[in-house]
Amino acid sequence: MVARVIPVVPFDLVVFGGTGDLAQRKLLPALFRRMVDGQALPDSRIIAAARRDLGADGFRRRVEAALRVHVGPEQLDPDRLAEFLCALDYVRLDAADEDGWAALFHRLKDSERMRVFYLSVAPQLFAPISERLATSGCLTPDTRLVVEKPLGHDFASARKLNRQLATIFDERQIYRIDHFLGKETVQNLMALRFANALFEPIWNARHVDHVQITVAERVGVRGRGAYYDQNGAVRDMMQNHLLQLLCLIAMEPPAHFEPDAVRDEKLKVLRSLKPLDGPGDVVLGQYRGINGEPDYVEDAGSPGSRTESFAAIKVEIANWRWNGTPFYLRTGKRLQARVSEIAVVFKDAPHSIFPASAGGTNPNVLAIRLQPDEGITLRLTIKEPGPGGMRLCQVPLDMTFAKTLGAQGLRIPGAYERLVMDVIRGDQTLFMRNDEVEAAWRWIDPIIAAADTAPEGPRSYDSYSSGPEEALMLMHRDGRRWRALAA
Ligand code: NAD
Repeated sequence: MVARVIPVVPFDLVVFGGTGDLAQRKLLPALFRRMVDGQALPDSRIIAAARRDLGADGFRRRVEAALRVHVGPEQLDPDRLAEFLCALDYVRLDAADEDGWAALFHRLKDSERMRVFYLSVAPQLFAPISERLATSGCLTPDTRLVVEKPLGHDFASARKLNRQLATIFDERQIYRIDHFLGKETVQNLMALRFANALFEPIWNARHVDHVQITVAERVGVRGRGAYYDQNGAVRDMMQNHLLQLLCLIAMEPPAHFEPDAVRDEKLKVLRSLKPLDGPGDVVLGQYRGINGEPDYVEDAGSPGSRTESFAAIKVEIANWRWNGTPFYLRTGKRLQARVSEIAVVFKDAPHSIFPASAGGTNPNVLAIRLQPDEGITLRLTIKEPGPGGMRLCQVPLDMTFAKTLGAQGLRIPGAYERLVMDVIRGDQTLFMRNDEVEAAWRWIDPIIAAADTAPEGPRSYDSYSSGPEEALMLMHRDGRRWRALAA
């Protein structure tokens, strides 16, 4: 159960690639949960469009099996499940040819519901599908289009894609998902910053020593090797998720919590990123197997590959608020723990009045954890309890709401639940605008170009370690250290 649910209007949601991994593992379970919670009404329709000859019943069977795996048994109430499956339909079509489009048109033509086309397919199909939607008469003025990364593989291809989509859709109809922004904690970060007066006066280079943003995974690339090897950590993670998180930390307060006001401020951050001076501020790595596990190149099925499975970058923002406060970003696969967090590390107290025997003070750290255990903690220094004289210790002020909500029988909705409902509500605040995507690529392109022409490939690191030695040095040389990678 989730508190305060306001139902959305009935909709027709067409999922291209409805039989694929993203749809089956994330999107359809998210829609099911929103229906169970009473937000998505059962008189909406979800129509999958994919190439297999499944028929509506075959598709329903597939979805039922997926829900049994990806939705907790406590939510699989048989009546709600039957209701949800009833709302599903299936159209066989191939984005690359004419078959099936008339059938899709017929499914939609008499419906006055709001339409969403969710392109859960490879990005090279975004433009052909959009064009066929237009020529087959499936679009209405209230149509929305949802796309997800990869949105281009460099600035030129991202701009080309934006322009292709813009020939058919207005920008206000296009929802570019970055699922990190759908996380409850990430939205809480905005509440923390902009609904409290406490942090704003110290949210700047005078008081913040540095910021660390980490997205670490334990899994390797096996199973996704072909896709991953074409991209690597910089394209797959830095360009979108990590830069988006950086924007939310660094942006100025928008005048209103409205889509373009928020996105204008994020765009200003992206345009203020200092170009990287030299190779010293970027460390790329590639995992090697331990204990008989495969190396990256074996997992990726790509002998001799120079694709990076790890990236660490020191980023500086050239504006008044952040000049002098570096942002250290790192992301990688086969690392010590699966953890995604942002840590805002404040400066030390300017002078310690306590004797050395009290133990040193440590900087305050605001840690925003996206996974696991979504929540926010503020590390403070206090006196160790007891009569042992003045001894200082660090304690976290814990705002881990997952546990608090769990104790009340409440559940934090997943990112896709939130984002899909935002699409239906027509709220683009948490979605990337065309110019944001392009600005991010503009900054990333030289990093990729430098890596491509570097005489050496990525640094090797042990699986389940904290990454290459050089990434540790990136911070050590500045007198700082990465936070431990602990789940
Ligand atoms: P997938 O390969 O599992 O599924 C692709 C789907 O597209 C299948 O349903 C397939 O039938 C359909 N399809 C392929 N060619 C088609 C054609 N010519 N006409 C009609 N349908 C066609 O891929 P996925 O993992 O579900 O990813 C889909 C997209 O989402 C990709 O662009 C991927 O990069 C992106 N994405 C996926 C995830 C994830 O967790 N899987 C996360 C973020 C982004």
